[in-house]
Amino acid sequence: MRILDRSVYVGPSLYAHFPVIRLELDLGELEQWPTARLGDAFVDGLVAALPGLAEHGCSYREPGGLIRRMREGEGTWLGHVLEHVAIELQNVAGEDVTFGKTRSIDGRPGVYSVVYEYAQREEGVAAGELALKLLASLLPENLRGDLVPADWQWEEARDDYIRYAQRRALGPSTASLVRAAEERGIPWLRLNEQSLVQLGHGKYQQRIQATVTGRTPHIAVELASDKEETNRILGSLGLPVPKQELVQTEAGAIRAARRLGYPVVTKPYNGNHGRGISIGLRSDDEVVAGFAAAKEHSRSVIVETYLEGDDHRLLVVNGELVAATRRTPGHVVGDGRRTVRELIDLVNQDPRRGVGHEKVLTRLVLDAQAEMMLERAGLTADSVPAADQVVYLRSTANLSTGGTATDVTDIIHPDNRDMAVRAIRAIGLDVGGVDFLTTNIAESYRAIGGGICEVNAAPGFRMHVAPSEGTPRDVAGPVIDMLFPPGAPARVPIAAVTGTNGKTTTARMLAHITKMAGYTPGLTTTDGVYIDGQRTVEGDMTGPVSARMVLSDPMIDIAVLETARGGLLRAGMGVRKVEVGAVLNVQSDHLGLKGIDTLEQLAEVKRIVVEIATDCAVLNADDPQVLKMSGYTEAKCICYVTMNPQHGLVREHIRAGGRACALEAGVNGQMITLYDKGSHIPLLWTHLIPATLEGRALHNVQNAMVAASMAYALGIKLDAIRTGLRTFDTTFFQAPGRMNVFNEHPFKVLFDYGHNAHAVGAMADLAQRLDVAGRRIVVLAGPGDRRDEDLVAIADAVAGRFDHYICRRDDSLRGRDGDEVPRIQAAALQAKGVPESAITIIPDEQEAIDAALRMGRPGDLVLIFADALTRSWKQVIRFRPEGAAAPVA
Ligand code: ATP
Ligand code: ATP
Ligand code: MG
Ligand code: MG
Repeated sequence: MRILDRSVYVGPSLYAHFPVIRLELDLGELEQWPTARLGDAFVDGLVAALPGLAEHGCSYREPGGLIRRMREGEGTWLGHVLEHVAIELQNVAGEDVTFGKTRSIDGRPGVYSVVYEYAQREEGVAAGELALKLLASLLPENLRGDLVPADWQWEEARDDYIRYAQRRALGPSTASLVRAAEERGIPWLRLNEQSLVQLGHGKYQQRIQATVTGRTPHIAVELASDKEETNRILGSLGLPVPKQELVQTEAGAIRAARRLGYPVVTKPYNGNHGRGISIGLRSDDEVVAGFAAAKEHSRSVIVETYLEGDDHRLLVVNGELVAATRRTPGHVVGDGRRTVRELIDLVNQDPRRGVGHEKVLTRLVLDAQAEMMLERAGLTADSVPAADQVVYLRSTANLSTGGTATDVTDIIHPDNRDMAVRAIRAIGLDVGGVDFLTTNIAESYRAIGGGICEVNAAPGFRMHVAPSEGTPRDVAGPVIDMLFPPGAPARVPIAAVTGTNGKTTTARMLAHITKMAGYTPGLTTTDGVYIDGQRTVEGDMTGPVSARMVLSDPMIDIAVLETARGGLLRAGMGVRKVEVGAVLNVQSDHLGLKGIDTLEQLAEVKRIVVEIATDCAVLNADDPQVLKMSGYTEAKCICYVTMNPQHGLVREHIRAGGRACALEAGVNGQMITLYDKGSHIPLLWTHLIPATLEGRALHNVQNAMVAASMAYALGIKLDAIRTGLRTFDTTFFQAPGRMNVFNEHPFKVLFDYGHNAHAVGAMADLAQRLDVAGRRIVVLAGPGDRRDEDLVAIADAVAGRFDHYICRRDDSLRGRDGDEVPRIQAAALQAKGVPESAITIIPDEQEAIDAALRMGRPGDLVLIFADALTRSWKQVIRFRPEGAAAPVA
């Protein structure tokens, strides 16, 4: 049994519309060992290891279903079991994932496609690996293979896994904010492994880092962490604070304590998490010890008056008190029988208690500080406290050191509420916590005293969202409502386009139109990422990484994503949904690669873009594979695009009030026409679009129609669409290798990088339609990794349409022999009746292009299919026929 291949899909994919992991699992000889044959020992062992599996319904859709399935008849196969184990492991680590699907792969006996949902990438991958080990460990010795080391221990591996998963999970405060954002339909992106999170897209984005927001003023955070300055500011406004002195020396500390009057508190000048604080010091000696403890954390030490009462955290968000909590330091309560040590163990058995910040409550530890507290109370770890005796293990109430929290939001006195709001406003925080000490929170501080000992920036939320006692409070919601007031935009419209040919061109056209309409588009293409028309990153940027890049760019307010087959198969879509999804065509290219062998399979991959479209699916009705996709979208509207005004189905769709874009003949040429809800909108004459070469380049007419339909679906004004198309050009610098024209030689050069039969055919059509006085010459090639039949089809697409053919190959052979590609294509041309004298084989790209240019005579058309684009284009513009003057520098 082994994993042959693993893909992690970050978004919608062939397998699900949410993140899943897919394993190709080879069962090997275990194919002969379904669960029933493995016997009860295996099933029992599995349930003992992961009791939660007993809840999995599986095909029976009721708890116990999976276990039944494993025992009944032949049982089920281990791939399927692995899927359930990988899901259950994540559940054990606290994740809410349920989806899985396992299928045997056709034609590969014993090999399974195991798909399961995951919550976090590393955690999900590790779940699959651990699942494999667990299954192997439960097999009879002779079937186990070498998957489990001899000293492997299930419990240990499981706990390691849980810790690993939790380290990667968002902390409780950040998680609560992310959940509140999700409830409001606001998308989020985690920006690092800690708690930095982007909420919303593009220019609407807001950021949080735990409970610090992008709007929290830096100066307020600085003030809050300066206890002396905070104390002074609050005091000067008449808010209740202890009297305080800052000291540097032991003697200074004693003098200060005497001046303030015992009892006092000592604490480090910039401390946190209760470190180095000593409370209720009643003598000079205690002050000396307290000073030393604080000095370990800070150069200066604060001495302040001791405040009677319980510790309260008053949480203020956006100028309002949203929760109040009473906090009790970590403690145990005696029962007259157990020792302190035993009582601690008992408390720690509470499943809500975990390690550090990870759980609702933190475990108590019997460390030096706890022992000091016990000593003060005249106890040791082995004493048996009396029934109901409260034994403190900490002097401060921080949850992170084992404290507990009781919600008191409903009973806080209005004066105390106002006091907290005033204090947070005085410091300047949008989200802040006031630590307030009082003997009774339900009574006004004006009546019974009490004081603010600290103001906290980045206050933790876990004590409010999951208090150990009392009502949980939604404190994250108000933060999100502050960042995104009702009605404020959070998402940018997203348009995605896919297809075999024309994606980059169409995506660029659409981005250009949106720019003309006043948007700041973010565009991802095979050429790179463009922000507002400027290329920010070069290279093939059509996968999910570049989608994220665009959506996190703080400038953009609309996103256009070229979506390619490769990225979809490798990692899925980078976004959960798109407003507008378009498919141009599904043609044979890349077949036989990555398990995609037929046009239908290729269509299924590209269809994802349509499946996740919410507002409009733009479909090329002239391509039968694309037309079929109309049954797979839940978008509010389908917009068909057709070059054939008589298209029956489209006519019917229009008559029924549907949306379409059709090409219609008029007195002056061809008119791109939009139909919507019964109205008929003439958009633009095709010859007014420069990228169509006076309307002759039909593939770009089609691309323009798709781009216009997408723009229309995005709500862009007709005039902006018209202006966009009229000003969109295909110079080499804007669109290298996409139908670039060079007219400075006596002959015309058309330069393109079409590399499949469909694209090459489109260019050959164009060559036919252009007025050419002389001959037509073509330089032809095909990528080495395509099937022979694809190379032949490329040759067939030009055969008979040119006067001379030069067959070349790309620099990169992609597994072919030196002149294999040109020989195959030359033979294919001859088979189509092209005379041998009209064909030259010149394998090297530069030599082939040079030969074609030399062949050019005034009035000729030279169509060059190029691969090394920049080098070849330079070659074209620098070319000088023999005898001509040297190029001007
Ligand atoms: P944290 O990071 O958890 O907020 P900190 O290190 O910033 O802790 P403080 O908030 O100043 O420290 O103090 C921690 C706890 O010590 C308080 O919550 C309170 O229980 C106690 N404490 C601090 N100052 C006083 C005081 N003047 N009188 C009584 N108790 C005090
Ligand atoms: P890639 O998969 O390489 O990223 P793409 O889909 O982004 O390609 P473009 O870069 O826009 O496509 O165009 C590539 C070539 O495909 C063009 O130069 C042209 O030869 C051809 N082509 C463009 N649009 C179409 C179309 N609508 N129909 C047929 N062929 C087209
Ligand atoms: Mg504090
Ligand atoms: Mg492209």
